[in-house]
Amino acid sequence: MTVASTSREVLAINGGSPVRNTLLPYGHHSISEDDIQAVVETLRSDWLTTGPKVAEFEEAVAAWVGTKHAVSFSSGTAALHAAAFAAGLKFGDEAITSPMTFAATANCLLHQGATPVFADVSSDTLNLDPDLASARLTSRTKAILPVDYAGHPADLDSILQLAERHGLIVIEDACHALGAEYRGRRVGSIAHMTVFSFHPVKHLTTGEGGMVTTDNPEFSETLRRFRNHGISSNARQRQMLGQWHYEMVLLGFNYRLTDIACALGLQQLARLEVNLARRRQIAAQYTAAFQKLPGVLRPQVRSDVNPAWHLYPIRLELKKFSAGRSEVFRALRAENIGVNVHYIPVHRHPYYRDRFGYRGGEYPVAEAAYECLVSLPMFHGMSDQDVEDVIAAVKKVCSAYSDDCEVPGD
Ligand SMILES: *Cc1c(COP(=O)(O)O)cnc(C)c1O
Repeated sequence: MTVASTSREVLAINGGSPVRNTLLPYGHHSISEDDIQAVVETLRSDWLTTGPKVAEFEEAVAAWVGTKHAVSFSSGTAALHAAAFAAGLKFGDEAITSPMTFAATANCLLHQGATPVFADVSSDTLNLDPDLASARLTSRTKAILPVDYAGHPADLDSILQLAERHGLIVIEDACHALGAEYRGRRVGSIAHMTVFSFHPVKHLTTGEGGMVTTDNPEFSETLRRFRNHGISSNARQRQMLGQWHYEMVLLGFNYRLTDIACALGLQQLARLEVNLARRRQIAAQYTAAFQKLPGVLRPQVRSDVNPAWHLYPIRLELKKFSAGRSEVFRALRAENIGVNVHYIPVHRHPYYRDRFGYRGGEYPVAEAAYECLVSLPMFHGMSDQDVEDVIAAVKKVCSAYSDDCEVPGD
């Protein structure tokens, strides 16, 4: 037996004791007493929905990201759908997006009758590769939807230049990237429309919720109408004007966010900077801890961005392991580290395979990344002990399965 093997602890999956006793999730919300108080106050007020808190929250988010307009929605998915509508996407149109995302990014195009066309991602960031996107343009292409994977901004200048040359609208799915910076500017102020989510695992939560930010007043007006049945005024405006008359001018939905949710959002926004700083600190600790760990590739950060770190996805160099990704994943779960995988590439889902005939192999960079990705726990409420537990478990599991120090006679 070598020294390395005698000092190695027995994995929890093999009956050893886990690194921690309770499961640490990959993402989790933080709710303060002030948050609860703000929600309770709104519950006692005259407005539960589409009242003063909605307007206040929208103005606060617009000011925070640095745009003229912000329009709230009942979810990030509803916000994506509305952005696709405001971009004028319809049957027969195409839009280019990344396969390395949550299905909602592509689904919003299908809801408009448009066709999602995937282009592969760059291998460093796993964000849409602008050159590969360019290669997929046709006369029917109307929009590009880059995704800021894990909170690392997409290659926005290249994508906007491509869009400008071909008259396309850029809808950025920044559901991972509230607070990220690209070339000194905050995400949300760069693309024609930017979409955020306020799901509990995201940087700021309203329970469910979403937002579109834009500088374009026409997009803003269409977004507002679309979320309210296509009606050209809202109930609060009519009450203030003493009017009953309204007009439905387009076919929309009820995608409104409540005042209850926006009261929570306003409180959460006040802590966003602190929470972002904590996420960046955790990412830096992981990055330092895994620097010399064989077989573990850390997420790469380009020099012109400051990511928001929604996720911390490592990639396993499986050639150096005696086990596959699923075994490493299960071993980490057994250590009570709630790892996850982001994402199964969208075109690999049965719905997309059946409808569009994808067989696999179309987007090799995304598909190869998927095979070895593991998202480690990453949320602002993690304690120092939580971070240490993740680091200890990754080192324990990866060295146990690493071929470099295989136990002789094992
Ligand atoms: C969370 C998320 C969405 C959807 O947001 P919901 O608020 O859950 O509807 C869309 N795209 C990406 C990349 C996301 O992470």
